[in-house]
Amino acid sequence: MKYTLKKAAEKPFLYSINNIVTLVNKYFINLTGFSENEFIGKSLMEISCMLKIDSQVCLENIESDYSCYIFTKKNEAREITISCERLKSKNEKKYFIKEKANSSIKEKFDFVDQLYTDGKTGVAIRSVPDLILLKVNENYMDFFEEPFNKIENIIGKKQKEIINRYESSTAEELCTTVISNGKPYYVKEFQYDCYKRGTTYCDLSIVPIYVQGKIKYLIETILNVTEKVLSRESIEKQADVIKQQEEKLKVITESMSDALIVFDKHSKFTKFNKFIRNTFFFKISALKNIEDGFEKFKCYDEDGNLILKENSITERVFQGEKISEYKITVKVNNTLMYIVVSGAPIYNSKGDFIEGILIARDVTNEVKSEETLLIKTKLDLLDNIIRNIDIGVVQYSYPEFEIIHINNKAYNDLKQINPEAGSLSSLKWKNYCDIYKINKKVKATEIMKNLIEKKNGSYFSYRKFIVSGKEKFVKLMHQPLFGLNNQIVEMTVIAIDMTDEVKAKNKMKKALKMQEEIFTNVSHELKTPLNVIFSTNQLMDFYLKNNLFESNIEKVARSINSIKQNCYRFTKLINNIVDLSKIETGFFKLDLSNENIVEITEDIVQSVAEYVKSKGLYIVFDTDIEEKIIACDPEKIERIILNLISNAIKFSNPEGKIFVNILDKADTVEISVKDTGIGIDKKYLNNIFGRFQQVDKSLTRNAEGCGIGLSLVKSIIEMHGGKISVDSEVGAGSVFKIQLPARTAKNLKVIKQTKIMNNKIDMINVEFSDIYSI
Ligand code: ADP
Repeated sequence: MKYTLKKAAEKPFLYSINNIVTLVNKYFINLTGFSENEFIGKSLMEISCMLKIDSQVCLENIESDYSCYIFTKKNEAREITISCERLKSKNEKKYFIKEKANSSIKEKFDFVDQLYTDGKTGVAIRSVPDLILLKVNENYMDFFEEPFNKIENIIGKKQKEIINRYESSTAEELCTTVISNGKPYYVKEFQYDCYKRGTTYCDLSIVPIYVQGKIKYLIETILNVTEKVLSRESIEKQADVIKQQEEKLKVITESMSDALIVFDKHSKFTKFNKFIRNTFFFKISALKNIEDGFEKFKCYDEDGNLILKENSITERVFQGEKISEYKITVKVNNTLMYIVVSGAPIYNSKGDFIEGILIARDVTNEVKSEETLLIKTKLDLLDNIIRNIDIGVVQYSYPEFEIIHINNKAYNDLKQINPEAGSLSSLKWKNYCDIYKINKKVKATEIMKNLIEKKNGSYFSYRKFIVSGKEKFVKLMHQPLFGLNNQIVEMTVIAIDMTDEVKAKNKMKKALKMQEEIFTNVSHELKTPLNVIFSTNQLMDFYLKNNLFESNIEKVARSINSIKQNCYRFTKLINNIVDLSKIETGFFKLDLSNENIVEITEDIVQSVAEYVKSKGLYIVFDTDIEEKIIACDPEKIERIILNLISNAIKFSNPEGKIFVNILDKADTVEISVKDTGIGIDKKYLNNIFGRFQQVDKSLTRNAEGCGIGLSLVKSIIEMHGGKISVDSEVGAGSVFKIQLPARTAKNLKVIKQTKIMNNKIDMINVEFSDIYSI
C-alpha cells in the first residue's frame, strides 16, 4: 500500500473511499490550483463540478483511461487523461491524472489575448467536437445573460448548456458548418435578439484550429456592432428621409404656380423652377446672373421709385434679410408687371451664405382687377352722385338726340318747365329737343361749331325759363363724348341754376347805378351852396375894392343873407349825411323823455308860421286834444315835423295851404302834415322814403334837396316805434301821416319844453335852408 502510494505519488492522483475524497497528492494540488482542504471530504460528484468535468463525465463513472478537460481553480483548461484504479476494498478508488503534453490552453492561445486588445472583441476557444468552452474573455461573456456572464458559470460548459434551445439554432449550424467544412466562417452584423439588450448586431468569426491534421479547437470572436449598425441605419434612414424630402420639394417647386429662383454666393442663378422656365412673364431663365437682370429689367417700389442695386431684393437677401411679400413693379418692354416677392438667405453650419431663394408671384391680373373694381366703385359712386346731385344732368345720344340718362334734379326742373314731360323712366330714348322745346337744327349747329371746329372741351350756353311765374336763369354746359372715329356720339348737358347769381348781379347793377346817383346828388348839393357863397363873396370883394360898397348896401345885405342861408343849407346836408351814417352804423341814439306831443307840435308850427306866411302860404294847426304825454325825443320830433313842413313849402304852389293836425287814437297819436301842393305821382309813393330817392326832378323840382330827408324821418319815427305813410294826388297835394305809440316810459319825468328860442330858430333855418322859391 505504501509502495503503491509512493509510486503513485509521482503522478497527480485523488483517493476516495465510498466516493468521498480522503486524499490528494501534491501534484494533484499543483495541477488544479485548489488546496487540499478544498478536496478532502468532498464527494466525487462535487469534485467533478469543481474541476468542471461534470459536463463531460462524472469521476464515479470512469473505469479506464478517459480523456477530457479539467479546469484549475483559475479556470484554466488542462487536457488530461483520467484513469481509475480500484483498490482492495471495493469502495476505495484512486484516480490518476495524466496531463497531456502542452495541454495548457492558456499558453497555447496566449496570442489571442494580444490579438484583441480593443476591450470590445469577445474571444472564446472551444474544444472540438464537444464544444466545451476552454477559454473566454470578459467581452465574450458580456454577450451572455445571468448566470453565464460569469466565468465560473460558463467555463467548461458545452455550448448547448449555455445557449438556450441550442439544437437547430444558428449557433449550432455555424459550428457544425465550420467543423464539417474545416474552413473559417465570418459573418458580419449577425443579428440576434438578446433578452436584455434587445436586437443586437455582431461581427462573428469562427476559426477552426487544426492539431495534427484534425480540427481540435474553434476560436470564436464576437464584436458588438449594434451601435454602428443602428447609427448607420439611422443615417441611412435620414438620408432616405432627406432624399424623399428632396423629391417632395422638387415636386412642389416644379409644380408650384409661383416662380422660384435660387442664386449662389457668386450672384449666379442656379435654379429656376418649371413655372419660371415655361410660363413666367419674362425670360428670367435666360439670365445667367443678377447683374444680367439689372440691365434688362427696371424694378420700382410701391411708391414708384426706381429700386437701385444696393437696395435690390437680391442684395438684401445677400445681407441676410428675410423678405416677406414685398410688392414691386417691373417694367418689361414698356409693360408694367406687378410682382410680390419673398426671399430668404440660406447659410451653412459655419454661418456662410450658400444661396438665396426668391419666390415671386405675378399679381398683375389681381392688381388690374382690383383697379377695375376700384374704377367700377368710383363710377358707381359718381353715378350715384350724378343721380342725386343738386345740379341737373342730362345725357343724350348724338346725332339722334335721344335721352340716355336724366338725373333727379334735371327731371324735377323739367317738370316745372314742361309739366307734360311724363315719368322719369319714360323719358329714356325720348327726343331731348322735343322734351326741352329746343330748335334742333339751330342748336346742334351752334354747339357742333363750337365743339368741333373750335375744338373746345365744352360749350356753355345760357337759357331763361319762366317757372311758376318767376324768372329762372340757367347756365348749360355741353360736354361731348367722342367715339372711335372722333365723332361726337354722346352729349352730357349740365344745367347750373344761376338765378340767384343773375338776380344778385342785377341788384348790384342797380345799387351801383344808385350809388352813382347819390354821388351826383350829394356833390351837386355840396357844390351849389359853395358856389353861391363863393360868387357872393367875389361880388362883395369887387364892391370893396372899387369903393362901391356903400352905394350897393342893399345888395350887400342880400348877399350876406344868401351866404347865411347857404351855410345853413350846407349844415343841413352835412347833418343829414352824418345822421344817416350814424343810423347805418347803429350810433344814432334817441334822448327820450315823456313829453306833451301836442305842445311840441303846436310850438314848432307857431315858430315857422311867420316864415310860411312870408313865402305866400298859409299854415294851420289843429288838434282834437290838448295834451298827450308820450315818450319821445323832442328835438328829433321837431326835426321830423320841420322836415315835413319844409317839403310841404317846397312843393306847394303860391297861395297854397299847409295843415298840421293832431289826432288822438287812444293807443297812438297821429300827426299829419297836409299840403295843397303839386302832389306825388303814385308810382313814386313807395320810393320816396328810400335813401336818396327823389321824384323825377325834371317834373317836380322847384326846390333843392338830395332825397335824404324822408328816409331820415322814417328811420327816426321807426326808432320811436312809430310808422309814417303818405297819400298824394298829383296837382291836389300830399298828406304825410305819422303814427306814434301813445306810451310813456317809466322813470322818465315830464320835461316841460324849455328850449332856447335861438336854438329852435337855428334848427328852422337849417331845416328850411333848401327852400329857395315856391
Ligand atoms: P329832398 O331833400 O330831396 O326834399 P326828401 O326825402 O325830403 O328829399 O324828399 C324826397 C322827394 O319826395 C322829394 O325830392 C320830392 O320829390 C318828394 N316829396 C316830398 N315831400 C313832398 C311833398 N309834400 N309834395 C310833393 N313832393 C314831395
